[in-house]
Amino acid sequence: MTWPPLLRLQAALGPEAELVIVGGAVRDELLGRPHADWDLASRLLPQAVMARAGAAGLKVIPTGLQHGTVTVILEDRPVEVTTFRSDGDYLDGRRPETVRLGVDLAEDLSRRDFTINAMALPVGGGDLVDPFGGRADLAAGLIRAVGDPLQRFAEDGLRPLRACRFASQLGFDMEAATQAAIPERLDVARKVAMERVFKELDKLLRGQEPQRGLALLAKSGLLDLWLPELRPMVGCGQNQHHAHDVWRHTLEVVRFAPAEPALRWAALLHDAGKPGTRSVGPDGEVHFYGHEARSLELTEGIFERLKASHALRKSTLALIRHHGTHPTESWSDAACRRLLGRLEADGLALDAWAAFRLADQRAKGQAWELHLAEHTKLMTRLESLRAARPALSIRDLALDGAALMRLAGRSGGPWLGSLQKRLLEAVLDDPAVNTPERLAELAARELP
Ligand code: ATP
Ligand code: MG
Repeated sequence: MTWPPLLRLQAALGPEAELVIVGGAVRDELLGRPHADWDLASRLLPQAVMARAGAAGLKVIPTGLQHGTVTVILEDRPVEVTTFRSDGDYLDGRRPETVRLGVDLAEDLSRRDFTINAMALPVGGGDLVDPFGGRADLAAGLIRAVGDPLQRFAEDGLRPLRACRFASQLGFDMEAATQAAIPERLDVARKVAMERVFKELDKLLRGQEPQRGLALLAKSGLLDLWLPELRPMVGCGQNQHHAHDVWRHTLEVVRFAPAEPALRWAALLHDAGKPGTRSVGPDGEVHFYGHEARSLELTEGIFERLKASHALRKSTLALIRHHGTHPTESWSDAACRRLLGRLEADGLALDAWAAFRLADQRAKGQAWELHLAEHTKLMTRLESLRAARPALSIRDLALDGAALMRLAGRSGGPWLGSLQKRLLEAVLDDPAVNTPERLAELAARELP
């Protein structure tokens, strides 16, 4: 269980380096999961790693000398080698004040967050170093803090969130004392920088069992630190269309949505506006009038706080904006084309819209097979309408703005945009109208 180029590095550093694979790479290798990077640790000080790897012709970058980290490039892949270290006191709940290099491997492993992340595997061969029972916890599917969880969560407020993230990614439970410590340390978690919170939430959402991670956030109180707008969803009852309350439905949509960022974030946030718009009609029926608009507002606020990227905001908002559109068989082709046009104008791919819709339907907890049959039929229809490449936007009209100005003998102005809109409506109703001749005829009639 190792990657051959690591042996080359091991040879360059020599046996006294005690080069080991650590952290996430060991965990994921033991689980047979793919992992993006190899984390390595060594007894050598960073200067010695640089000198020896450099002398062997390897490219080395001093990425974090003060923390003992250098990056070695092996077959074009960056590999971090960190000197065995212990962390000094954590005074601010975020970063250790100092780090001490030159400690032994056991001490290095003891500073790590969870038992499943605190194992080491010698690169040159040899037994797994597992002082905290990480392997047993991997087998049992448990996230357990190394040492006293209350103390470990007091040192670094990100750890409770990482614990929820690993529960989601690995489909693990959280060991009881570890879980019980989170509500006691919310004040430390509160101090973590939003960029780091966002990265962890994003990984949590994209995990294989995101509903576990989200349920843990809600149960532990972490949810209220970063996503307080979502709390009212818990226990918010719905109507005859739903078997679940809004929160439970949300967890199901997240679970069923493909593991792509915008789809998972939209799944989490699409019904956030429901609690605030809930009303009960005279017949006792529950309504959520205007909840999409409210969900959009809440989502913008949440993404602002979490400093999410512009691209993620845009695609998530588009999914939420269109999640309440439910075409039926009685829709005309023209109405279906208008929907395709609205999705396109919002930069939302039909596939993404469809995947979201399917997850949302499936999560209602009722007669799923009926929904699937209806969904498949609808998608076949939308796809065949789209395959005919009808004009869906003003850009697609057979006469462009310049041609219309020439025809009208006028220079541009508000008249042009409103004419183009009317022509597009005619073309959406009947794509055969989209030829230069017929558009010219229509324009002549429309113009004063
Ligand atoms: P992944 O790379 O899949 O996100 P990982 O476990 O490798 O997961 P990294 O952030 O790459 O996580 O960190 C590598 C290792 O460093 C971890 O496995 C863990 O041993 C240790 N570590 C990372 N963050 C912390 C932390 N906040 N507190 C204690 N140890 C940590
Ligand atoms: Mg890692």
